[in-house]
Amino acid sequence: MNDAANQPPASCEDDYDLGSLTCAAALQNLLAAVTPLRDSERVNLRAALGRVLPQAISAPAAVPAHPNSAMDGYALNANDVPAQGLVWLRVVGASLAGKPFTGTLGAGEAVRIMTGAVVPAGADTVVLQEQTREVAGEVAIEACHRRGQHVRLPGEDLALGSTVLPAGRRLSPADLGLIASLGIGEVTVVRRVRVAFFSTGDELRSLGEPLGRGDIYDSNRYTLFGMLARLGVDAFDLGVIRDDPAALSAAFTSAAAMADVVITSGGVSVGEADYTKAVLAELGEVRFWKVAMKPGRPLAFGRIGGASFFGLPGNPVSVMVTFYLFVQPTLEKLMGTTPRTAWTLTARTTAALKKRPGRLEFQRGLLALDAQGGLQVTPTGDQGSGILSSMSNANCFIVLDLDTAQVAAHTEVCVQPFDFMG
Ligand code: AMP
Ligand code: MG
Repeated sequence: MNDAANQPPASCEDDYDLGSLTCAAALQNLLAAVTPLRDSERVNLRAALGRVLPQAISAPAAVPAHPNSAMDGYALNANDVPAQGLVWLRVVGASLAGKPFTGTLGAGEAVRIMTGAVVPAGADTVVLQEQTREVAGEVAIEACHRRGQHVRLPGEDLALGSTVLPAGRRLSPADLGLIASLGIGEVTVVRRVRVAFFSTGDELRSLGEPLGRGDIYDSNRYTLFGMLARLGVDAFDLGVIRDDPAALSAAFTSAAAMADVVITSGGVSVGEADYTKAVLAELGEVRFWKVAMKPGRPLAFGRIGGASFFGLPGNPVSVMVTFYLFVQPTLEKLMGTTPRTAWTLTARTTAALKKRPGRLEFQRGLLALDAQGGLQVTPTGDQGSGILSSMSNANCFIVLDLDTAQVAAHTEVCVQPFDFMG
């Protein structure tokens, strides 16, 4: 693993203060440290939603397989379309979806045809029903029809042998349909990433436990669960672990044994890092990083046994910000797909914003359309890293540059929506 300064860790004391990493450098280091999973499994098509293809899928057949009509009307040969005026063609049958006309069209003949029905041999053009008149078994066709109009050609959706979906594709609802259109009911996908997570802190209580004075309920395990579930990983909730070396050591060890990735929250802030460091120093190789961001400055990353390890800060907003910025892309790389990059949009802030220069700040905002249809963003109240409601009320980060200090109301700012299913 690299770090920004590319310095070896001198000692546990020193590497906390290696200097601040930029977010971009931190992410680069994280991505460089993991390699995509290679194991795969066969699943039925429905179960493949959100899963990643280890190999491309190419078309074993053309879609559509036969020329068919895009409209209701009459199939005919363009040779019979008059240059001007009108001709009457004999209607010799009908081609319905699933009930094709089996004959061959001769000169002067037409076939009634419905959307999706096979265009019969001898025909190459469809004329819309609304542009015709049928009287006593004959149909009137006027001039000005283009050869091939309203005919869907074989292979126009998927050509035989073409790459339908590339390796690394995370399957969307449209992709499931595309695979089904090829007649494929089972696909090979990368196995799910296994993620074990737990919270650390003597003040934390699990749901159902009574709160003593100063205790709080553990909310991080629920935000983490939600974000992990959306990513489609196998998530294992290992509960709350006390600030106790033996308990922590046991938890790290069993988490690393069952998972590809271990995520903890809490215990990496300046006041607590030394303690966590001492425990981790025995079990693996973990660095403590100071990232030039707010919230979420302290971050630990490394390996414990065979697992990658993320030590996220304890504050509820910090957990979510660092997850979206760092954990999600790293998990996506492990899953075998290209990490999604956040969309950066420009919106006018409805209120003035302030921050201290020096760190990239992720304030929480609600992105919406203004009366003119432009994008506007409204900060969601108190921006403290413990104010989880600021995250719950938000749908985007307002990203403020390192150097920014003040932003006046009604000026443009960069926003990154986070709460969408990409
Ligand atoms: P720490 O990083 O352990 O120093 O914790 C920073 C702050 O986050 C403290 O106020 C903790 O009480 C709080 N915190 C830590 N873990 C959790 C958790 N799982 N759920 C809610 N708050 C937490
Ligand atoms: Mg703590």
